[in-house]
This record gives sequence, C-alpha cells and structure tokens, in this order.
Amino acid sequence: MKVNGLTVMNTVYIGLGSNLSNPAKQIRTAVEALANLKNCQIDKISALYFSRPMGPKDQPDYMNAVLSLTTNLSAIKLLDALQNIENIAGRVRKDNRWGARVLDLDILLFGNQVIKTERLTIPHYGMKTREFVLIPLHELVCDLVLPDGEKLAELIQNIDQNGLKIFDYSLQL
Ligand code: ATP
Ligand code: MG
Ligand code: MG
Repeated sequence: MKVNGLTVMNTVYIGLGSNLSNPAKQIRTAVEALANLKNCQIDKISALYFSRPMGPKDQPDYMNAVLSLTTNLSAIKLLDALQNIENIAGRVRKDNRWGARVLDLDILLFGNQVIKTERLTIPHYGMKTREFVLIPLHELVCDLVLPDGEKLAELIQNIDQNGLKIFDYSLQL
C-alpha cells in the first residue's frame, strides 16, 4: 500500500489454528508458507499451544500459535494470501461454525487499523475472549495496546485458560 508515494509498512498479528490431519505439522507448514509470502517478513512466533475446542465439543483438540509479521500488503490482499494457504492445506468450508478444520489463519490486528467490511473485521471480532489468541499474543508483545486503547495485559488477567498448555517451544524458523 502507498500513501503520498511512500510505502506503508504495517505490523500484523495472525492467529493460526488446526485440529485435523496432524495439527502440529499443519501449523509448522503454515508458518513456512507465511515465511515464503512475498512482501511479508515474519518478526516473532509464539510457542505452539494445545487448546480445547471452542463451540462444538465433539471434535479433536487444537493446536494454536500467533505470529507477527511486517508487510506492505493491504489487509484484503493479505487475507487473500492467507485464504490461499488455507485452501492449499485442504481447508473445506462447511456450514457449521467453529467445526474441525485443517488450518485457520485469522488476521487479529493490522497495525492500528479498524476495518469493518463484508470480508474483514479487524481487530478480529473474537480475539478479546479467546485464551488461545490472547495468551500467545501476550508472549509476543506483553505491552500491546489494542486500537480501542484496551491493554492486552489487562485482558488476559481474567481470561479462563480452558486447559491451554504449551505443547512445543520450537516453532521458531
Ligand atoms: P472465527 O472467525 O470465529 O474465528 P473461522 O476463523 O472458522 O471463525 P472462517 O471460516 O475462517 O471463520 O472465515 C469466515 C470469513 O471470515 C472469511 O471468509 C473472511 O472473509 C472473514 N473474516 C472477517 N474478518 C476476518 C479476519 N480478521 N481474519 C480472517 N478472516 C476474516
Ligand atoms: Mg478463526
Ligand atoms: Mg478464519
């Protein structure tokens, strides 16, 4: 994206999740795919977390992680790239919300931008209540302040950890 002829770089936080087809491997492959994206540079990657499913409970447990990257892509171009990675992983979109999936890549924050369009809501609408997002995000940047001024450190104070555990520290590239 350019403003007044200058390229605008944004720091973006992405939430990764999987509970099908070897979830830990799915997350590692997705991190590699993100590292290979043009115009994107991964800055930090959280540990790999084990988490309990949100929504329907008759599905396998999840693996989750959060990473930050710097990009000059627009939010919608980045969403296109993330959905392409999900599709390559074999993501099948079903009607049942929050059902099992091979890979989910959500844009949590995109710089300080607030976006509400048909395809994009940023900050991610569910991030403030999801332990598998807030805790890995806090690992990356403990003094993060959301665009509405809310402090991440305060958000995680009262969060139910819901069995969240670190599964592996070695997601780093
Ligand atoms: P949830 O959004 O509750 O985490 P989900 O990730 O399983 O559920 P998806 O099926 O991955 O939902 O995405 C549904 C739609 O959400 C996508 O087609 C996309 O256009 C839209 N969407 C809106 N905001 C975002 C965002 N911040 N990141 C990723 N997708 C988003
Ligand atoms: Mg999601
Ligand atoms: Mg999603």
